[in-house]
Amino acid sequence: THFGFETVSEEEKGGKVYQVFESVAKNYDVMNDMMSLGIHRIWKDLLLWKMHPFPGTQLLDVAGGTGDIAFRFLNYVQGQHQIKQKRQLRAQQNLSWEEIAQKYQNEEDSLGGSQVMVCDINKEMLKIGRQKACARGYKTGLAWILGDAEELPFDDDKFDVYTIAFGIRNVTHIDQALQEAHRVLKPGGRFLCLEFSQVNNPLVSRLYDLYSFQVIPVLGEVIAGDWKSYQYLVESIRQFPSQEEFKEMIEDAGFQKVTYENLTSGIVAIHSGFKL
Ligand code: SAM
Repeated sequence: THFGFETVSEEEKGGKVYQVFESVAKNYDVMNDMMSLGIHRIWKDLLLWKMHPFPGTQLLDVAGGTGDIAFRFLNYVQGQHQIKQKRQLRAQQNLSWEEIAQKYQNEEDSLGGSQVMVCDINKEMLKIGRQKACARGYKTGLAWILGDAEELPFDDDKFDVYTIAFGIRNVTHIDQALQEAHRVLKPGGRFLCLEFSQVNNPLVSRLYDLYSFQVIPVLGEVIAGDWKSYQYLVESIRQFPSQEEFKEMIEDAGFQKVTYENLTSGIVAIHSGFKL
């Protein structure tokens, strides 16, 4: 198999990927902002809008790292839950909006029963995620689980939604991870994957190549003192299957109604599929 442009055995790839994320964990969030000029935040927001979770949704975020998708999910469902609660209160009890706001402040469960489990193979990434959750005051609806996407530590038919953002290209056996995603989703559940993909605009493609190969490893070296890890990140992106190939892989794992949407000229794509 491949590790960047290096050919390594399948056993070696997992260990090398682990080392990369162990080494980038501390600087991961800052580097994400620097390297994507902040655009990764918009891509992640779009993933949430596409998911449009309702209060009560059970989400599994695999390769969830430092929790970017999980925190967005919690904010989103909290917003949805508040809107629903406030409408219900006003309709049922004929309260004023001020009275509702007062009453609402006393509500204990602000998520309507929603939960997110962040599962990642790397202890260091999860550690940073937990620290962020504490600092931001997230107390309920969130769990951090050490686990491999290829062998998820969960029962069958457990989650409403499975997400994996910028994670699947790091997995050694993608087909195995997709089968696991299918197994742990409830019937009717949704698979959503945000991942780098193939650029479909020649001008953007040239600029993107230049930026990826000339700028990103340099930024990695200057800011994090880690050229190699950032070179791997760039090279792993190039080796990931095209939008259509990946769509077929998702279908092969048993998902139906598989579609994808390109963002920023295909620099990234969101693939979606359902377990029906
Ligand atoms: N989802 C987060 C985000 O969007 O910011 C983190 C993405 S980070 C680029 C990739 C993550 O995949 C790392 O945290 C890494 O530890 C995790 N990872 C790599 N291989 C994995 C595997 N086999 N199972 C679970 N997580 C894995």
